[in-house]
Amino acid sequence: MKFGTKVIHAGLQPDPATGAIMTPIYQTTTYVQDAPHVHKGYAYGRTHNPTRTALQNNLAALENAKYAVCFSSGMAAADAVIRLFKPGDDILVSADLYGGTYRLFTQSFADFGIQFRFVNMNDATSIEQHILPNTKMLWLETPSNPTLRIIDLAAVGNICKKQQILFCVDNTFATPYLQQPFNFGADLIVHSATKYLGGHSDVILGAVLCNEEALHKKLAFTQNAVGAIPSPMECFLALRGIKTLKVRMAAHCENAAAIANYLQQHPKVAQVNWPGFSHHPNHAIAKQQMRNFGGVVSFSLKEDTLAAGLKMLSNTHLFALAESLGGVESLIGHPASMTHAAIPKADRLKMGVFDSLVRLSIGIEDAEDLLADLERGLDLI
Ligand SMILES: *Cc1c(COP(=O)(O)O)cnc(C)c1O
Repeated sequence: MKFGTKVIHAGLQPDPATGAIMTPIYQTTTYVQDAPHVHKGYAYGRTHNPTRTALQNNLAALENAKYAVCFSSGMAAADAVIRLFKPGDDILVSADLYGGTYRLFTQSFADFGIQFRFVNMNDATSIEQHILPNTKMLWLETPSNPTLRIIDLAAVGNICKKQQILFCVDNTFATPYLQQPFNFGADLIVHSATKYLGGHSDVILGAVLCNEEALHKKLAFTQNAVGAIPSPMECFLALRGIKTLKVRMAAHCENAAAIANYLQQHPKVAQVNWPGFSHHPNHAIAKQQMRNFGGVVSFSLKEDTLAAGLKMLSNTHLFALAESLGGVESLIGHPASMTHAAIPKADRLKMGVFDSLVRLSIGIEDAEDLLADLERGLDLI
């Protein structure tokens, strides 16, 4: 099955009880048993739920994985991955990281004896020198947020294989439509389905995917034992959103290309971050491992001040000022005062998060309207 067919059909079947073509929201905590432990595979709602099973089967097919395990959020999914490790283990992490993941690793797990080391992975050949005898996993995000740098998945996959450490990719930004990390040697994929997979800004949900039965067993154990499970309604909404993933991603990418090219020639704009430009430092790798260049674009202004960046945010109307990304509607944010406000300025600048940097999550509205909104916003600066 090809991708556009999988999003609609993979892992799904008409409801066996009624023939309903949409997987029902099985809103139940428990299931009637014929005798103790004699049942149809469903005993208690935390352990199994048919709506969740359908979503897991569908997600697994999209990433060409054997197994998917869903959680109540992307952060709960990340938490389940870190629970695979024990005190004394070392984990290498890409330096450009989603703020919530950074907080989980450095604060929630601070007293658990697992070491997290943050490394710039832009040059994959320099990664190997950071691997220690107790390094057990490498975790990365590509494209990165908010500067849209790209890490070479195949190169990192080879290093992890050679060094026999697990390779985990947070594939939230790319989605399996743009990039399929298992093809490049990943062992684990984490998703915040809250973003593009759900796609309509109405569901918080996470997932971990893998191909190893032993890893799946541990993740499924955590799902049941810890209980950070998505509700049947959230699973239904994610399934519904995924059906249009292919057409939505294509539209996000097309709009992002139009906007990146428009911004690039604007006299008030200093730098545009979008991996589709041939002058982007990682353009060749992006072309190699991604189908297209995604729906997020960031840019800095020639007037590089916090005030100018914040003014841009208040100037736009269609681009709504909000956290998050990946919905059908366009959003605008200012990393220096929002997601990256807690990072010391010198470190922030080193990451390319300039004072005026503005991040756009480009929706699937008509490009002409989005361009007009940005033009008005830039005129008023
Ligand atoms: C949003 C996000 C997360 C966290 O997901 P939640 O569903 O909000 O818990 C993790 N990684 C990335 C890249 C994200 O954008």
